[in-house]
Amino acid sequence: MEGCLFCGIVAGDVDAEVVHVTERTVAFRDVNPQAPTHVLVVPRDHYANAADLAAGDPTASAELVTAAAAVAAAEGQDDYRLVLNTGAGAGQSVFHTHLHLLAGRPFTWPPG
Ligand code: 5GP
Ligand code: ZN
Repeated sequence: MEGCLFCGIVAGDVDAEVVHVTERTVAFRDVNPQAPTHVLVVPRDHYANAADLAAGDPTASAELVTAAAAVAAAEGQDDYRLVLNTGAGAGQSVFHTHLHLLAGRPFTWPPG
């Protein structure tokens, strides 16, 4: 989608530290990490949020999670948090769905 930051990263037009790729997903480090491991896993195709992705491409939706688990394992992280912010009120700022993988520090509940 034109003008979409994460479409630009998937296309290789915008620089990012890519750590894992699959047929349907790309994973790269968050530019403003909130944990020692903070990786974003995105579908190659543009979907605004996780529910749209799950409805439109359930295989890619599942692959986000398996890709995140593979990155966590590669980084030696047994415990991790996965986050899908949906809507500006919930903290979503980039409207190309992305699964946050956070690991490497303790996490509290409920989240902020
Ligand atoms: P959201 O707030 O939408 O759930 O998450 C968007 C995430 O994208 C944020 O954690 C933010 O730090 C990250 N981000 C924003 N711009 C860039 C960028 O240009 N490159 C990378 N690697 N991450 C970005
Ligand atoms: Zn996009």
